[in-house]
Amino acid sequence: MGISEAISQVEKLLGDRLSRNAAVREQHAKGEAHIPGATPDAVAFPETTAEVSEIARICNVEGCPIVAWGAGTSLEGHLSAIRGGISLDFQRMKKVLEVHPGDLDVVVQPGITRKELNSELRDTGLFFPVDPGADATIGGMAATRASGTCAVRYGTMREAVLALEVVLADGRVIRTGTRARKSASGYDLTRLFVGSEGTLGIITEITLRLAGVPEAQAAATCAFPELEGAVNTVMETMQIGLPMARIELVDEAQIHASNIHSGLGLPEVPHLFVEFHGTERGVEEQVALFGEIASGNGGKDFAWAREQEDRNRLWSVRHDAYWAARTAWPGHESYITDICVPISRLAEVVLSAKDAMAEKGFTGPLVGHAGDGNFHLQIMLPPDDPTAEDRASKLASTLVDQALAAGGTATGEHGIGLGKMKHMASEHGDAWAVMATIKKSLDPGNILNPGKVVVVN
Ligand SMILES: Cc1cc2nc3c(=O)[nH]c(=O)nc-3n(C[C@H](O)[C@H](O)[C@H](O)COP(=O)(O)OP(=O)(O)OC[C@H]3O[C@@H](n4cnc5c(N)ncnc54)[C@H](O)[C@@H]3O)c2cc1C
Repeated sequence: MGISEAISQVEKLLGDRLSRNAAVREQHAKGEAHIPGATPDAVAFPETTAEVSEIARICNVEGCPIVAWGAGTSLEGHLSAIRGGISLDFQRMKKVLEVHPGDLDVVVQPGITRKELNSELRDTGLFFPVDPGADATIGGMAATRASGTCAVRYGTMREAVLALEVVLADGRVIRTGTRARKSASGYDLTRLFVGSEGTLGIITEITLRLAGVPEAQAAATCAFPELEGAVNTVMETMQIGLPMARIELVDEAQIHASNIHSGLGLPEVPHLFVEFHGTERGVEEQVALFGEIASGNGGKDFAWAREQEDRNRLWSVRHDAYWAARTAWPGHESYITDICVPISRLAEVVLSAKDAMAEKGFTGPLVGHAGDGNFHLQIMLPPDDPTAEDRASKLASTLVDQALAAGGTATGEHGIGLGKMKHMASEHGDAWAVMATIKKSLDPGNILNPGKVVVVN
């Protein structure tokens, strides 16, 4: 009985696709989080939904934890196998199962990454617009309700996921949602599983909404003498309803890091990175309107990227922001925060976060999917300061308190994992207990990613 019995049975099912190798287990102990990892007892590499279902059935009987594993890029300790058990790695389930160009949707297995999917779609005139900085898997992105630079226009995984196939803790396989664009049919289980971080079910198939590649696209960087001018530009742009495809806030510390890491070559002042999608005429109109708002807030030095290659370069610099900071502050660990507030409160919260970081004696970049009211401080932890992590954690908690007081949330996109558990009660009140009730009902044995999102025992 127990974990070792479950592993033996799963080994019979998968053969050498079940690994007890120490190095493989160690690789599955943590994602990109600053939080220490915890090693699973084995790593399984399923190839079919039927195998996932059988693994769940065995683990449920034996009380063996299962931690689903995508690309391992999550940032809050989601993947730590704190009670041991099996890490379920989806690298062998990464097929595109169906493409429906006429309906603008696609059905995929969970292990395909967002870049792999877009590469498969390149001849269809369609693209999948949710783009976290890392090349995450679609399963992991659905499970964390991820977003990215395009969310301001195209939405997050909440909007992108139309339907799911999910293996429940007892091995039952269910389907939630359909390919229809809307439905009033019963409880919205799709959105219950999106963002559930592998605690309610294991996602084995995802139907995604796609977008058409727009006729015209233009991207630009725009410099501001002060952060305040950049943030006010974001707020005014969103408040007049300009349909921005992307509007990213990048402070002077991030520009410094990206100059070093990516040879960006921009003046080290706050910037907005923006992009417009539409018809040729529509894009020209949006550009002109945005230019007026930005100039009114001190914006200048627009550098345009109209060719695909130049736009790709600009956005890969933005996607590499995290790694750029690691390069620019060698030897430092980093502690990344992720709050999201209503747009009208963005300026006060951003400016106060920068002040708080300086007051605590830290440095590091601030970047954000600012059009959504979402931003991150990447607090750099000096290697010779043993108190740094604890102080950074307190600073991060202060930022969350400010976000909640402003009507916002403790996490705009990275999720709860272990790192944000301490804020669940203050953000959700009694609703957190309701989440635990749902967890107990779907996973009474608490085998699915136990210890994350909710406390049940
Ligand atoms: C440099 C960098 C930049 C980032 N930028 C962004 C960003 O812009 N926006 C953003 O949202 N996030 C961002 N992230 C965080 C991270 O990329 C996202 O959380 C991403 O969605 C995680 O996907 P993954 O495939 O790596 O999942 P993993 O990290 O492997 O897993 C994440 C969670 O999902 C669960 N899970 C994985 N697969 C399944 C499945 N099939 N069924 C059920 N549960 C599953 C896991 O158990 C875990 O709880 C960034 C991370 C890094 C390192």
